Amino acid sequence: MPTSTQVQLVRRPQGWPVPEDFRTVTVDLPDLGPDQVRVANAFLSVDPYMRGRMNDAESYVAPFALDATMTGGAVGRVVESTSADVPVGAAVTHDLGWRDVAQGDAARFRVVDDDLPLSAYLGVLGMTAFTAHVGLLQIAQMKPGEVVFVSGAAGAVGSMAGQIARLKGASRVIGSAGSPAKVARVRERYGFDAAFDYKDGHVYRQLRAAAPDGIDVYFDNVGGVHLEAAIGTLNRDGRVALCGAISGYNDEQAQPGPRNMARIIQQGLTLRGFTVGFHPQHYPAFVADMREWVSTGQIAYDETVIDGLDHAVDAFLAMMRGETTGKTLVRL
Ligand code: NAP
Repeated sequence: MPTSTQVQLVRRPQGWPVPEDFRTVTVDLPDLGPDQVRVANAFLSVDPYMRGRMNDAESYVAPFALDATMTGGAVGRVVESTSADVPVGAAVTHDLGWRDVAQGDAARFRVVDDDLPLSAYLGVLGMTAFTAHVGLLQIAQMKPGEVVFVSGAAGAVGSMAGQIARLKGASRVIGSAGSPAKVARVRERYGFDAAFDYKDGHVYRQLRAAAPDGIDVYFDNVGGVHLEAAIGTLNRDGRVALCGAISGYNDEQAQPGPRNMARIIQQGLTLRGFTVGFHPQHYPAFVADMREWVSTGQIAYDETVIDGLDHAVDAFLAMMRGETTGKTLVRL
């Protein structure tokens, strides 16, 4: 009988998750029903939003259930099928991650073109790059000639947001990241005009030094001190795409908000939050842009790959701690 090895949440983390919050189980898989597929996963995505789903709190996605297998982005190949639309051998993406074999109705699996390494469909052609595209162009409405600041600039979303800003004609792109090696990569490989290490000191002062004429757009992956610094640096009619606030995801007490909210009034700023799943209408424009940039070598993308389902929790924690660069993936 075919089996699937899966990672489950058994306890809601308090602060930073620990290995004891999870367990690995192996379950028998039933025979396929009509119009179903069985998929051998090749890569699983670990993402910051998963930390929110480990809490029992109301959000835009339901919390992970306790003692149930976690879900998340994954890509793999169909090994058995009763569906004409999703045949054996097809490469598919889906949201049944945190397991080595996924099985279910064919409608849950999306066939991808299979012309790039499979991991690309979770990164440069996946949810994280799409988030960068939507956030920068639709939410923040970035225009050519504007100055753009991106936090989390060496990560999956941030590395894309900064490069998309450059490709769409920003006059200056500034990034922040959490180590000298990441700062160097942001400048040299991703082509940001300036970058700084937020752990080096005062974020506002470093941002001001990098943006002597202020910024027009802030792509916020981090929240907290970064958001306050950006509000203090935004020019008149500036816009913020509130994408994430990872600096607070493991806090047991919510952080206070920015202390300079009055500046939003004085400068006529717009701060707009979004989650990418609510913007599917923009997906075709993203794919058209990204396929061109990838095929012409205009965009650089990196992956940190950690091997083995038994290291999936370690991969998630390494990503949250800033120990990885680009898109963080688990290879099976
Ligand atoms: P990522 O940037 O690849 O990985 C997370 C990064 O966060 C780490 O590498 C680390 O980089 C940084 N970080 C951790 N703690 C930090 C802190 N206290 N202050 C500043 N930076 C910190 O992850 P991602 O998948 O691209 O996600 C980036 C953000 O976008 C997250 O906030 C995520 O929740 C959000 N997101 C939102 C949507 C949406 O639809 N709105 C979709 C996808 C992702 P350093 O080494 O630089 O600290």
